[in-house]
Amino acid sequence: MTDPAAALAPGGPDARSAELRAALARVEQRIVDACAAAGRDRGDVTLIVVTKTFPAADLRALAGLGVREVGENRMQEVIAKAQQGAFEGLRLHLIGQLQTNKAAEAARFAGLVHSLDRLKLARALGRGRESSGIGAPLPVLIQISLDGDPARGGVPVSELGELTHGILQEPGLDLAGVMAVPPRGSDPAAAFAELARIADGVRAQVPGARIISAGMSADLEAAVAAGATHLRVGSAILGSRPSLR
Ligand SMILES: *Cc1c(COP(=O)(O)O)cnc(C)c1O
Repeated sequence: MTDPAAALAPGGPDARSAELRAALARVEQRIVDACAAAGRDRGDVTLIVVTKTFPAADLRALAGLGVREVGENRMQEVIAKAQQGAFEGLRLHLIGQLQTNKAAEAARFAGLVHSLDRLKLARALGRGRESSGIGAPLPVLIQISLDGDPARGGVPVSELGELTHGILQEPGLDLAGVMAVPPRGSDPAAAFAELARIADGVRAQVPGARIISAGMSADLEAAVAAGATHLRVGSAILGSRPSLR
């Protein structure tokens, strides 16, 4: 598949791989430092490299550098990349708002869905998983809307109990924790502290729901300080995305 001439050309795959290796090392150091500052074990924090909008070749380069967890936000893009073998040996995290009519595909491709935020989607994902032929239930996180603004996805805290109950009714789903994106213009530290408090409440009810997915390129330190177990980092590793999304 790799064109040897392209691999040797300046700016070719080797150059990209070197660039990704250096960026990964910088982010890894930030995580190590944040864990040390918070008195946490580096092994308790998982880095997910968010590859949305970047080509399948970047995913293969990341896999070659030892990355195992990647995040995407659009099913159409996931399917196109999967056809190019992009996800071989990688665990796919779905982090974007998910349409119910894409749930069956999501339930087949995803290792973890971070963005479960409504009952209808829980049913569709649960049924999709059950009919997928994959024996194990699909691990899911409840995306919390910390400001109640539905625009960026997430369930308002007032509806969290009902959604939790609905997920527990689905044999095809395994409730593994919570996720949030800090509201626009908010202090990320305060947002992540609020998420940690909500996570405690969910875990009191569902002891296995231990994942807290929080923290991106700009605020991963604050997320680690507040107890995040999974960081979703894109631009700090892959560079800036085209601004369409
Ligand atoms: C794109 C995206 C990220 C990664 O953001 P960066 O700022 O590029 O690190 C994380 N989480 C979600 C939900 C995203 O959509």
